[in-house]
Amino acid sequence: MRLLVTGGAGFIGANFTRRALDSGNDVVVYDALTYAGNLNSLRDFDNHCDYNFVHADVRDIKALRVAMKECDVVVHFAAESHVDRSLANPAEFVSTNCLGTTAVCEVAVELGIERLIHISTDEVYGSITEGSFSEGERLAPSSPYSASKAAADLIALSYYQTYGLPVVITRSSNNFGPLQYPEKIVPLFITNLLEGLPVPLYGDGSNVRDWCHVDDNCAAIELVLQAGEEGGIYNVGAGNEMTNLELTSQLLSLCGENPSMVEMVEDRPGHDFRYSIDSSRLKDLGWKPEQNFDEGLSMTVEWYRENRWWWEPLRPGPK
Ligand code: NAD
Repeated sequence: MRLLVTGGAGFIGANFTRRALDSGNDVVVYDALTYAGNLNSLRDFDNHCDYNFVHADVRDIKALRVAMKECDVVVHFAAESHVDRSLANPAEFVSTNCLGTTAVCEVAVELGIERLIHISTDEVYGSITEGSFSEGERLAPSSPYSASKAAADLIALSYYQTYGLPVVITRSSNNFGPLQYPEKIVPLFITNLLEGLPVPLYGDGSNVRDWCHVDDNCAAIELVLQAGEEGGIYNVGAGNEMTNLELTSQLLSLCGENPSMVEMVEDRPGHDFRYSIDSSRLKDLGWKPEQNFDEGLSMTVEWYRENRWWWEPLRPGPK
């Protein structure tokens, strides 16, 4: 199968590209290489005969037409993905995430693509104090990031309803693992600690997130690509809910540091208190998370320890 992977130079896209090539597929990575896109994440495949890279924007219909032409399916990761940045520049998020998804859907209909996997997030449901959201629940996003993702989901579904485009949506919880740009909490905290710097924790650290190893998310995406219901939505959560403070404590201990390295900073505006999703629908397809959280986090710290060449150039300050 030939896959077009938009945003394949980003964190999850690059991990997924490795998996898709390992499974024997042809992969065309299509990426604008924003600050979050990194060819170093794909350099292992430079000489792989089944891998190609296209440097272009997902809003560029003409470039999409050329790149998607020989592809069977599309896995659409490309997005602006960092909530903090969306507070500073909402319009860029709406443009990339909504217009980009529209362009991808438009060309996919035109070329008769067999399946489009639209990658979304648990953040579209908003915060929940108790219990967990299932896929039919109303959308109540809080940030410009999650609002633009919710809008993109509805755009993708409208292409299914109106034009019969075979869309499947995944909504995963927070991912962690190798190759994540060091601005999100896990890689930011690890790289700060490896540099002997404090870690900035929002508010009182009591916000709850459910952590999913990127390999488990990529396995889920591969599964829905093969067996997901057209027009269907699949939550992807591994059931590792914890407060940001608990996560930070584990990272401190894995990096051999103590709580004095934590710097409490003013909370992010509109910071959702808790995300929680019910992934029964995906489990009914046969998915279960393989990665034990503690082991996965420890391996992630090891990866950053051993791959300074990858993240050091991405950190702020003199190079
Ligand atoms: P990322 O920020 O690491 O990577 C995004 C990629 O998209 C980059 O390679 C970037 O260059 C590319 N891109 C951005 N704008 C583009 C444009 N206009 N045209 C073409 N390429 C463009 O993101 P990620 O963490 O890998 O997330 C991938 C997807 O998964 C996103 O859609 C995100 O919303 C979703 N998601 C992420 C998480 C997470 O924890 N990281 C959780 C749930 C859902």
